[in-house]
Amino acid sequence: MHMKPMTVEPSFRESVDLMFARAARHLNLTPGLEEKIRVCNSTYTVRFGVRLRGEIKTFTGYRSVHSEHMEPVKGGIRFATSVNQDEVEALAALMTYKCALVEAPFGGSKGGLCIDPREWDEHELEQITRRFAYELIKRDLIHPAQNVPAPDMGTGEREMAWIADQYARMNTTDINAKACVTGKPPHAGGIRGRVEATGRGVQFGLREFFRHPGDVARANLSGTLDGKRIVVQGLGNVGYHAAKFLSEEDGARIIAVAERDGVVVNDKGLDIEALKQHLAANRGSLRGFAGGTYHEDGAAALELACDILIPAAMEGVIHTANAARIRAPLILEAANGPITFGADEILRRKGVVIIPDLFANAGGVTVSYFEWVKNLSHIRFGRMQRRAEEARSRLLVEELERLSADKNLGWTLAADFKQNFLEGSDELALVRSGLDDTMRTAYQSMREVWNHRPGVEDLRVAAYIVAVERVAATYRSKGL
Ligand code: NAD
Repeated sequence: MHMKPMTVEPSFRESVDLMFARAARHLNLTPGLEEKIRVCNSTYTVRFGVRLRGEIKTFTGYRSVHSEHMEPVKGGIRFATSVNQDEVEALAALMTYKCALVEAPFGGSKGGLCIDPREWDEHELEQITRRFAYELIKRDLIHPAQNVPAPDMGTGEREMAWIADQYARMNTTDINAKACVTGKPPHAGGIRGRVEATGRGVQFGLREFFRHPGDVARANLSGTLDGKRIVVQGLGNVGYHAAKFLSEEDGARIIAVAERDGVVVNDKGLDIEALKQHLAANRGSLRGFAGGTYHEDGAAALELACDILIPAAMEGVIHTANAARIRAPLILEAANGPITFGADEILRRKGVVIIPDLFANAGGVTVSYFEWVKNLSHIRFGRMQRRAEEARSRLLVEELERLSADKNLGWTLAADFKQNFLEGSDELALVRSGLDDTMRTAYQSMREVWNHRPGVEDLRVAAYIVAVERVAATYRSKGL
């Protein structure tokens, strides 16, 4: 169970502002510009009724716009009972900094609906989602040029497809209607690789971290991801894909997974695919999973000895009451805001290296950016080039084979090399390439500041510095 902090801590939004303030101290912003960047521009609250199960049910939703220094603004829509104004404003601010850090040309926004999606069946959820979307669309708070949502906690492809359809129904002549929301299924204008994107970004981000031995040493670790012992909290979209890729492709061992109702532990490494299937078959419960030992206290999993801790569920799970007991030397924030401002200070004093959320989970918005561009260009990535690329590669292979035969050299190209070399890049390959490049470049810009700018103690401050400098530059070039 999620343990509540013992002491009063700043709210999520205050936490984000305090983290911003730590970075702002290193920047030469005028006080006016600093305030302009920090504050949330607007938050729209909507209460709407839907007739369900014979009565009118009222729901409360939000769409917050933190910064419009670039438009459209971008940020997910969350369905959870914890949704409130403070939370969406914190998440919208994080989106501003995240987009700037990974050079996605958007301002920051976030939305949320106060609802437990598990309490409603699919048809009811569709009615609720469409009605919420209607309220936002008629105020241009969902719009291809102004405000483009995406999935977040409790939402996925299905909800995004409903939102896109609702927008299209209300804007029948908008040729760019599909670009009003990202994270759609591929058959409804989505892009390959979006569902896995945030988890894939976690993998690419960690790989890049491990390419810099000096950075790895600052976390008291060495070597590569191979054999590293990882604890993951939350096996939803982000946690599942991250755990799956890291264990199946990088040789890491996922030694514990915590979910709502506890934790399963297996020091030899959990089979993530089997665990995901178990969760699907048991209404999200870990109990009874044969591939590990079950314990009821899920929050205690955060305190297990491991190499890398990946909180991938929700905000505020590492707080001033448990931070001192965290044993991982490296934490990657796959969720948004999993470490409170107070906990961040405790962990920093302990020498824990934290790969911050605005970098670590930016894979989602990065691929959303690709999807938005795809929708605006009305063509699948790779459609024009793929066969041309293959034809060129084939020319080279045939020429090599001809030379070898002519000169009696006896060369034969390895079959798998030939196959890989001959294959032109399809949409998925291009998306992964763009995501990998984005995560590497963003990490490098962050580590440059972390390692070389005097007084910068941690990657979070470095990330904020890079992001806020970019936002400030945009404001300045607008003459503000
Ligand atoms: P999700 O709803 O798919 O998954 C969340 C998972 O966490 C669920 O399996 C849920 O059962 C579990 N969970 C909830 N409370 C828990 C608790 N107290 N302890 C352990 N497990 C718990 O959501 P998601 O899309 O994977 O998002 C997770 C986090 O990642 C959020 O902070 C979100 O803002 C962030 N994020 C998501 C995306 C994305 O593309 N989906 C992108 C960037 C950041």
